[in-house]
Amino acid sequence: GKPRVVVVGGGAGGATIARYLAKDSKGALDVVLIEPARTYYTCFFSNLYLGGFQTYESLGHSYGKLATEYGINVVQDYAVGVDRDAKSVTLASGTTLSYDRLVLSPGIDFVENAVPGWSTAAQHIMPHAYKGGSQTQLLQAQMAAMPQGGTFAMVAPPNPYRCPPGPYERISMVAHHFKTNNPTAKILLIDPKETYSKQALFEEGWNIHYPGMITRIGPDMGGGVIEVRPDTMEIVVDGEAEKVDVCNVIPAQRAGNIAAIAGVTDGNWAPVHPDSMLSKADENIYVLGDATNQGDMPKSGFSANSQAKVAANHIRGALTGSTVFPAKYSNTCWSLIAPDDGVKVGASYEPTAEKIASVESFVSQTGEDAALRKATYEESLGWYAGITTDMFG
Ligand code: FAD
Repeated sequence: GKPRVVVVGGGAGGATIARYLAKDSKGALDVVLIEPARTYYTCFFSNLYLGGFQTYESLGHSYGKLATEYGINVVQDYAVGVDRDAKSVTLASGTTLSYDRLVLSPGIDFVENAVPGWSTAAQHIMPHAYKGGSQTQLLQAQMAAMPQGGTFAMVAPPNPYRCPPGPYERISMVAHHFKTNNPTAKILLIDPKETYSKQALFEEGWNIHYPGMITRIGPDMGGGVIEVRPDTMEIVVDGEAEKVDVCNVIPAQRAGNIAAIAGVTDGNWAPVHPDSMLSKADENIYVLGDATNQGDMPKSGFSANSQAKVAANHIRGALTGSTVFPAKYSNTCWSLIAPDDGVKVGASYEPTAEKIASVESFVSQTGEDAALRKATYEESLGWYAGITTDMFG
């Protein structure tokens, strides 16, 4: 039969590569996409949902067109094993699928015991809301139910993690919600990092839009020493316990479990060749997106989508003899600070022998005028429409 490519994970990396393989090979490849969810809820723009700028429904995307218009075999299941010698994947249902090439784009899982007192068993009390879907809804419901003048706490993650500006965009959107609905609320940001993405832009924006509402406790002030107590809704910073009303714990991260099960990780992440996204551990396995250790690209949906196109081109070259073009990658991360106040950071990338290296970068500046910030926000709306169409058709 035709050569088969099995893709594990239908997110920014996986849905994109499945669609490009099917579309560009014009029927020459058998493309199988394994994803447990019927609807993919994007993490991108989930902060805007928290801020009241997007509906929950607008974040959801179905795999229907990938199956009906692109002929992809979408299998609603969960990959639980990879036999690299036999070149096969085992699914939770017990089915085994053989492959010529395997693509893993499973996103992230959390490092156990990264935040003392927190485990995934506590995520219904102290949500992470760092995977798409119900966790985002839970955090929104907790914010909406918070008493007047209550305290919202976030424990931010250490590097590297998915979406470097994500926690800070979330703080902005939570602050916007409270400014409108709960103006005496307090926000406590406990951060194990000295500095973070677009920091000057966020701090400027918080001073302008949410003066006095947000307190950041960085590592120099004890932010690195933290414990949470889900049973009593307390956080403990430097030995001092404080009761909070909502606690958003975003723990340290690692590649989605299946990458370690497949044996393609080195520590927390999966190393890949920078010119192809091919795993350094197996010449028949590609890894995309957040799960990878590739160099300078941030873990973002934009990055995963960009990497997927390079890998699709490489796989088609290997399996159908089509032309393989030199790899080029790009990324932009937009963040909304307040209504019509959008900022961005981005770069283009090329492979070197060692890594995917940043070539040219740009970032919004402090003090930009309102018209430019509004245009930047509007650009992000166009980006969201574009990437979701690129993923799901
Ligand atoms: P995902 O998109 O997470 O996809 C992984 C998929 O794999 C999931 O659907 C999962 O169900 C599936 N899966 C996992 N394990 C298995 C298995 N064993 N078998 C089968 N399926 C499996 N990025 C941007 O570019 N712009 C933004 O504005 C932005 N904002 C963000 C805001 C927040 C709050 C967060 C949390 C993230 C944001 N991101 C943003 C980051 C972006 O969501 C991720 O970087 C991106 O989704 C990574 O793509 P991926 O393919 O690696 O993983």
